[in-house]
Amino acid sequence: MIDYVNAFMARLQAANPGEAEFHQAVAEVVGSVALVFDRHPEYRAAKILERMVEPERTVIFRVPWMDDQGEMRVNRGYRVQMSSAIGPYKGGLRFHPSVNLGIFKFLAFEQIFQNSLTTLPMGGAKGGSDFDPKGKSNNEVMRFCQSFMGELFRHIGPDRDIPAGDIGVGGREIGYLFGQYKRLAGEFSGVLTGKGLNWGGVHFRPQSSGYGCVYFAAEMLATRGETLAGKTCLVSGSGNVSQYAIEKILQLGGKVVTVSDSDGYIFDEEGIDAGKLAYVMELKNLRRGRIKAYADKYKGAVFTPADRSRADNPLWGHEADCAFPCATQNEIGAADAENLLRGGVRLVAEGAHRPTCSEGVALFLDSGILYAPGKAAGAGGAAISGLEMAQNGMRTNWTKEEMDRRLAGIMKNIHAACLQYAERFGTPGNYVNGANIGGFLKVADAMIDQGLV
Ligand code: NDP
Repeated sequence: MIDYVNAFMARLQAANPGEAEFHQAVAEVVGSVALVFDRHPEYRAAKILERMVEPERTVIFRVPWMDDQGEMRVNRGYRVQMSSAIGPYKGGLRFHPSVNLGIFKFLAFEQIFQNSLTTLPMGGAKGGSDFDPKGKSNNEVMRFCQSFMGELFRHIGPDRDIPAGDIGVGGREIGYLFGQYKRLAGEFSGVLTGKGLNWGGVHFRPQSSGYGCVYFAAEMLATRGETLAGKTCLVSGSGNVSQYAIEKILQLGGKVVTVSDSDGYIFDEEGIDAGKLAYVMELKNLRRGRIKAYADKYKGAVFTPADRSRADNPLWGHEADCAFPCATQNEIGAADAENLLRGGVRLVAEGAHRPTCSEGVALFLDSGILYAPGKAAGAGGAAISGLEMAQNGMRTNWTKEEMDRRLAGIMKNIHAACLQYAERFGTPGNYVNGANIGGFLKVADAMIDQGLV
């Protein structure tokens, strides 16, 4: 099997040169799925993996817009529609200057498995642009979103492809995108998720990824007879996922001592309590400020600027029990993983997509700590998006309590499925194999049922 895996990866790298994040994501899945092929050669014979790594469709387009000074600007838009085996394409839009085709292919590929794990009928996709909303006025963001949707609307639809938010795309951007879709398509439909509550959105969408990640962590701890109460936690990022991960950790009795953005991180030894979290939310969501301001307001807190020349990020060097990486991919390098283990971390639950590099994942798995990949622990947002689609289709409106109950139930089921598949394929307690195999089998069976697609 090792020969198959090596040959598969060599072909993938040759066919997709320079797409390191995509190679990394596929390599991890192939490693897990090889365990399935040993017992079920029919999946290998049907070339399921070979088909899965080839996007069903990729769209790349020009996005011209005008800034407030009247100057023309041009960005690049993307949509990677990776798989529609178990439902219409579904996955977020990311607006960040670091994106490229390889990053969107990696994210769309991950989304296939994450969506499959939710048990809801959603395929995998991802898209966005190298546009940076930071420092732009609301009018500039609106003009960009309108131009972006001017092309994207041809490729999406409520039964075809339903984008959502991701880095740089929150409620404001979804609103502008939806308004333009509605105008161009001439219909009010559930074409995007993450909509406002009074125009088709669901309760709990903003909370869902962060809360879901912490619910998953609580399930993992329960397997060892522990809870989050009294545990010191490191959280990265200060956006949507981080904010609500922190809120839920606090509700479950944990203590959070870090928060970050791309400029650096805050270490608050006293802990980020509910009042300080409200400040972070106001700073980030309303004032669109930088996390450094936290240390100006709370004198006991220390801000450390990001230093990209270092091999490690000192955020992960603090002593703690649990870590919740909720910012971006590859934010935990090998040195960071070593530092986390040295600092006493016994649980890592990923809110972001693949925040730990491959070497770091191997270190976590070898160490025997509780380690959950983002495609499982971060699936809460996808799950609630699926419920938003269902709610739109049924023209109904579920309550906040109902959504929270459903979210907690879905995370519990994903956790159980990960353990069950890991055990069934001979790697008990390995959430990476469990998530990859559980996500894979449902999609693979659908592909076999549907013939050569
Ligand atoms: P936001 O844009 O709300 O927040 C992202 C946070 O991460 C910000 O604090 C941002 O800092 C920081 N960040 C982004 N890029 C970098 C970088 N290159 N280096 C350091 N810090 C960075 O995004 P979300 O919270 O929505 O998403 C965070 C992660 O969670 C992503 O991996 C996303 O794919 C994943 N995710 C999101 C879901 C969702 O529903 N929103 C669902 C599941 C996963 P700054 O402000 O300086 O850019």
